Amino acid sequence: MARPGTEELRRRNRAALLEQLHRHGPQTRAELTEALGLNRSTIATIATDLAESGHIQETTGRSTGSAGRPSTLVECVPKAESVAAVEIRADRVRFALFGLGGEVLERAESPLLTGVEGPAAAEAAAALVGGSGAEAVAAVPGLVDAGAVAHSTELGWTGRDVAADLAAATSREWRVVDTATAAAVGEWSRGDAHDATRLLYLHGGRGLTAGLVVEGRAQRGGSIQLGHIVVEPGGLACACGLRGCLEAEMEAFGYAEDIESATAAAGMGDAAARDGLRRSGEDLGRALGAVVTATGPDEILFGGWLRELYLSAAAPVRSALAETTLPHLRSRLRLRTPVLGEEGPLIGAAETGFAALIDRMR
Ligand SMILES: [Zn+2]
Repeated sequence: MARPGTEELRRRNRAALLEQLHRHGPQTRAELTEALGLNRSTIATIATDLAESGHIQETTGRSTGSAGRPSTLVECVPKAESVAAVEIRADRVRFALFGLGGEVLERAESPLLTGVEGPAAAEAAAALVGGSGAEAVAAVPGLVDAGAVAHSTELGWTGRDVAADLAAATSREWRVVDTATAAAVGEWSRGDAHDATRLLYLHGGRGLTAGLVVEGRAQRGGSIQLGHIVVEPGGLACACGLRGCLEAEMEAFGYAEDIESATAAAGMGDAAARDGLRRSGEDLGRALGAVVTATGPDEILFGGWLRELYLSAAAPVRSALAETTLPHLRSRLRLRTPVLGEEGPLIGAAETGFAALIDRMR
């Protein structure tokens, strides 16, 4: 008779092996043995289990050693498990179905009318997704908490229960994360930010949002309304009702429409464009000081049009941040730009689904 806990241990080991292959790609049994800290016979047992359930396969892969003898690689079967990821934007819905290991199995998008309401956006997503994927995850720009969008400048939504809209349109459960958080998860898991323990991703769209992930995982309360941090008390009126919000002071909408013209003009020596970028950089750095003090990230990524702004105005961003952040918080802080571009939010939404899916196997 099996010892109590043996089956549970075996289940956990299976999940760990699958997670390892999903995250890091094909590996030899010897590499898996080392990475997971399990012995060879345990790896052999769980590899057999996972091959029988259709999750992994063994193939003759790359050559190793001086003899050039090809080694046997263990890899995920992409179609064994899949996650449907959707990104809702102001002008369209993007969809991709990701297989185990991160391969894109299907991709589609459809346009949205300006000012679209939640239920109509959910119908558009439903038409793309259908019943595909064991998990369905949507990335939505704005302040998201427990599946609902509290506020989205980008979409013009306030207090919209997007998870409920999507569930009604598709008769299935959805996870909803904000676009910045999804992009952070994407950059951590498939980009270049894996070393960050607390990763803050800034998303520049028609509004400005930020997402904090810890060890690559979305956190309740990690969705941050960067655009509505007041940087100029009594300043310009913001659509949210406050005055002097970062979004209003930077005239985010204009940059979202055409950041390239501003950076190109500044590059050609246009004094007004240079001055505008410098002031925007200072405002951003000041708002970031508050966010860094509150959340203590070790890495910040500038995404969306904030990438172009940061590349053109890194010095004012850094100096304003330095003036508003405690030395011990900024000494460990890295400022960078993301590497996944437009794909980041979709990849991160999918990885959020895979994390849940693999957790269920444990
Ligand atoms: Zn505001």
